[in-house]
Amino acid sequence: AAKAAGRNRIHVFSADLRTAVQRKVQLAGELRDAIDGNQLVLHYQPVLDLPSGEVAGAEALVRWQHPERGLVGPCEFIPVAEQSELIGPLTRWVLGEATRQAAEWVRRGFPLLWGVNISPAALAAGTLVRDVAEALAASGLAPEHLIVELTESCVAEDAERAAAQLAALRRSGVEVAIDDFGTGYSSLGQLVNIPAGVLKIDRSLVVGAPDRPSQSTAAIAAVVGLARACGMRSLAEGVETAEQLALATELGCTYAQGFHIASPMPAEQLTSWLATRRSARAGRAALGSATA
Ligand code: C2E
Ligand code: MG
Ligand code: MG
Ligand code: MG
Repeated sequence: AAKAAGRNRIHVFSADLRTAVQRKVQLAGELRDAIDGNQLVLHYQPVLDLPSGEVAGAEALVRWQHPERGLVGPCEFIPVAEQSELIGPLTRWVLGEATRQAAEWVRRGFPLLWGVNISPAALAAGTLVRDVAEALAASGLAPEHLIVELTESCVAEDAERAAAQLAALRRSGVEVAIDDFGTGYSSLGQLVNIPAGVLKIDRSLVVGAPDRPSQSTAAIAAVVGLARACGMRSLAEGVETAEQLALATELGCTYAQGFHIASPMPAEQLTSWLATRRSARAGRAALGSATA
């Protein structure tokens, strides 16, 4: 019986493994069609400037509107793209769509910073500078409005080659942000050599340890201080509560982003979100001048 159970277990395991591999292969095939067939969509999450509370920009986050599975998040299919040759076409699609949309928002009077995520595999491919230049040219977006977000681990892989590409981007006027800082494995020494203007503090640091609030505060303060010492701006990611927003403001973060401010939303929704914020601000300004 034990032997039978053992054999069964192995059978079940290999069936699972086969299913996982098959699912990956199937997903890669479907993803190729999705990129060509316009099933990818970008949602945008607002970023606030601190302490003014003005909208500083928004980050583009890709989703897959799958015909059967519904809205699929990037964590499910970005790895699939990275393991196939699809990361190139996907990155170019995201850059094209985000810059096209951003250029429209800039024309409508929202001269903001628009963030786009670039995967390590796309940086390693060596075409990033050209891909970004082509997207800017096609959309008419000025480079000053674009931020390229890269994870720390991604820059650590081939630091010199990455640094050269990022330096070229910055020379062209595009800003570079280090994403998820505090979760990677790169050394502080490497960080100093990465040409980036914005340091995004990972959500895990921002959430902190509720039972050790002073240590959590010290960790954020240290990263904000590090950013400032390196001439960088800092952004608190994953701000979910008023307390976290207040702390980020108090510690001198330049920007904040998170569900407490707004969740990622489709482009049309961001347009009304931005318009509402703008008219509320105009209303307050009018009220201020009336009472002054
Ligand atoms: P990220 O760039 O660090 O983006 C932040 C992620 O945290 C997003 O998840 C966002 O929806 C989520 N988030 C924002 N505020 C909060 C909050 O207050 N609480 C919590 N719990 N989460 C929050 P999402 O959209 O699932 O994206 C996950 C990751 O996928 C991104 O992390 C980014 O690394 C990657 N990604 C997204 N879009 C793209 C893309 O177009 N290209 C590439 N290469 N990667 C992408
Ligand atoms: Mg990001
Ligand atoms: Mg992040
Ligand atoms: Mg992240």
